[in-house]
Amino acid sequence: MPLIAERLDRISPSQTIAVRQKVAALKREGRGVLGVSSGEPDFNTPQHVKDAAILAIESGETKYTDVAGTPELRRAVADKFRRDSGIDYRTEEIIISTGAKQVMFNAMLATLNEGDEAIIPTPCWVSYPDIVALAGGKPVFVPCGQNHGFKLRADDLEAAITPRTRWFILNNPCNPTGAAYSATDLRPLCDVLLRHPDVWVLTDDIYEKIAYDETPATIVQVEPRLKDRTITMNGVSKAYAMTGWRIGFAGAPLPLIKAMDKLQSQSTSNTSSIGQAAALAALTGPTDFIDTMVSAFRQRRDIVVEMLNAAPGITCHKPEGTFYVFPSMAGCLHKTTPHDVRITDDLAFVTALLEEEGVALVHGTVFLCPDHFRLSYATDTETLREACARIQRFCRSLR
Ligand code: PLP
Repeated sequence: MPLIAERLDRISPSQTIAVRQKVAALKREGRGVLGVSSGEPDFNTPQHVKDAAILAIESGETKYTDVAGTPELRRAVADKFRRDSGIDYRTEEIIISTGAKQVMFNAMLATLNEGDEAIIPTPCWVSYPDIVALAGGKPVFVPCGQNHGFKLRADDLEAAITPRTRWFILNNPCNPTGAAYSATDLRPLCDVLLRHPDVWVLTDDIYEKIAYDETPATIVQVEPRLKDRTITMNGVSKAYAMTGWRIGFAGAPLPLIKAMDKLQSQSTSNTSSIGQAAALAALTGPTDFIDTMVSAFRQRRDIVVEMLNAAPGITCHKPEGTFYVFPSMAGCLHKTTPHDVRITDDLAFVTALLEEEGVALVHGTVFLCPDHFRLSYATDTETLREACARIQRFCRSLR
């Protein structure tokens, strides 16, 4: 038996990454698969950002930086929080990590003791429960129904808090539902949190720029009194089409930043110096790229929502942000495909759809919400129309 630690039993491999790899493998085999499961913008990283990275390489910015990031990038992140959300972080209250994923990892490992609880509204990003569990914590799930726009209700938050609650984790806008909380939505949640001074907040705002109505708010912007126990997490992956560059960041109280810095100093050290130079260009450069990308996403969202709602058995809520839709497929349950496959659950649905129509989705159970699926519209309109037409044909064929 190989020597694998018991802590690995607490987690499973990321299932969204598994779907991405399966689609790539099927494509390599020459199968005509339509991948509408991707978690990254299909746009290219802006040219001025690439240029900054090339310049960094050529001018020798290729050495270790401070563990928590270059002073220039930490300052630019502090400026970003001030500019976009009116939150004042000092430069030393900022950390740069290898993606928002590592920020979260650092935060949980640095704070959770065995059995401490972290409240996670569901449906949720696949990595939250596993990161909490790996750090020894206990994820506590609070379901948010489609009938409430997939948003957490203050009463449900209040009811989930126990003496063991250490963290409340909020994703705004939310992967996979696309629900975006405005300042008005956040106010009652902040009121609950003010009554529980031992509960810390991690707000994951990585999709902040990909929103279609109002700009989503963030916790400290709405309630500055929560600043001394909130980590405001963000990054360049989604807003600047920079998923591969691996730059995430956060603002938080100094003792937490220092603990995360200590942890990072013994794991990855700084993230790539070149990626940091690129992120600096992204945060300080022109932003018209974001407007172009978001207006393309808006058009695609409208097409996809309309086409999915025309598929029998599917109900698709219109999301306010991200590049995902998260429809219910409950109306297809217990039916049978022309190839005699019974749709017993959401996994059976996406598996049959992949086999019979060559469309790759992610099933809702992965996001802790059965009877749903996630479709990513971070792909061209032609592919989206074809994928939705195949989903319609599949649903119509069920008996
Ligand atoms: N948070 C959410 C909700 C995400 O969906 C993702 C990526 O899919 C991340 C964080 C990770 O972002 P990064 O690429 O910065 O690690």
